[in-house]
Amino acid sequence: MERVSKHDVLILGGGPAGLSTALHLAQLEPELAPRILILEKAHYPRPKLCAGGLLADAEVILQRLGLDVSEIPHVDVEAAHLEFAGKGLTISLPDRHTLRIVRRDEFDNWLAKKVAARGIEIREGVTVRDIQPREDGVIVETDDEIVTAQVAVGADGSNGVTRRSILPGAPVHTARLLEVLTPTYSAPEISEIVKEGKEREKAAYFDFFCVPRGIAGYTWDFPTQLNGQPMRCWGVYDTNILANMQRPPLKQPLIEEMARHGFDLNKVEVKGHPIRWFSPNNQMSVPRVLLAGDAVGVDPVFGEGISIALGYGALAAREISESFRRGDFSFRRYKSRVLQSALGQTLLARWAIAQILYHLYWPWFQKFFWRSMGWIINASSKVLVLNWGKRLPALHTPKAGQL
Ligand SMILES: Cc1cc2nc3c(=O)[nH]c(=O)nc-3n(C[C@H](O)[C@H](O)[C@H](O)COP(=O)(O)OP(=O)(O)OC[C@H]3O[C@@H](n4cnc5c(N)ncnc54)[C@H](O)[C@@H]3O)c2cc1C
Repeated sequence: MERVSKHDVLILGGGPAGLSTALHLAQLEPELAPRILILEKAHYPRPKLCAGGLLADAEVILQRLGLDVSEIPHVDVEAAHLEFAGKGLTISLPDRHTLRIVRRDEFDNWLAKKVAARGIEIREGVTVRDIQPREDGVIVETDDEIVTAQVAVGADGSNGVTRRSILPGAPVHTARLLEVLTPTYSAPEISEIVKEGKEREKAAYFDFFCVPRGIAGYTWDFPTQLNGQPMRCWGVYDTNILANMQRPPLKQPLIEEMARHGFDLNKVEVKGHPIRWFSPNNQMSVPRVLLAGDAVGVDPVFGEGISIALGYGALAAREISESFRRGDFSFRRYKSRVLQSALGQTLLARWAIAQILYHLYWPWFQKFFWRSMGWIINASSKVLVLNWGKRLPALHTPKAGQL
């Protein structure tokens, strides 16, 4: 006979969205902590394809939870360059790094340990197969047992089973991404070829030259580290907004961008993974089940999803906390609350920007935009893209000993 275990809150997936939901919930409703169960199919530290770029809002959300991400290895980026074919604008923040780059295996492992330290159980190596919301609860089938709960949070990423189970056939917007790791510019074989390399060492580059060719996104070149060794992380992001155009293979712009700086894509292993991006039409819940993070949809302009997943966690936790207080698990107001929140506002703004920016794909427009509109991009990014984390609903201050 199959084993059955019962819980109040089930979190399906232990990435930033699921772990943030647990941390926020434990802070809002400490007595719920022992009644939360996270099911994660992998074992930490588990690989996750991601460039690991944290915007300031991710750090703000973590700080509100009493967490300091500088505890784990990271690389701080002084300036981000947004360019069209090598020329464009620079974004930097006074007195702080513009981006902090982490490795996702280390970041998620660190966050999972913080969750466990707060008395929340994480079952690793358990794959969720099916989710059935019922009037009186949720039944979740895993490869190991049947788990029941009052509510479940689908935080199982872009390929997750929750969305497919609860919203079969719902439209999704999927971006495609490729990523590679290389030595840094100071590696002997590289620096001999490219003298400008050393200047690029501490900066992050986003180049939108591929948009006129139908790849509605950009190539990136970030500093990173692997086991303490400085490395570069390169990749290409395509929203698929121009999927009806004739497009080169996704690898092509990455090959060209890397070659321009003395790197050879063919010498490194290329990996790919999709991202679901946010659209105001995306459904976010059904009675008894909420979605968070990539399972709902993250930033369409850049595919920035870590801070967004952490933000969804804050809102999902608040919704669950209220649902237990009211005894109403319909979650009918979740989507409107997300849209009205600071997170929803930045997602709506980024969705509108992506629709405009990537539909106006002509080379003259992209060149003009990235090379001549710097002051508008700089000012609007500080209002529309950044600084939303501190406007999320307030949390109680953690008590001593809770950290
Ligand atoms: C190539 C690439 C580069 C990126 N670079 C950046 C970047 O620099 N900065 C940034 O902010 N964002 C970046 N992103 C986006 C970011 O990685 C995601 O938005 C973010 O990981 C979303 O977090 P999540 O918790 O929703 O999902 P995930 O991080 O995908 O976590 C989902 C978790 O659910 C688990 N899971 C899945 N299915 C099951 C199942 N059936 N049963 C149990 N567990 C399951 C998975 O193992 C995983 O641990 C990048 C993405 C890609 C693909």
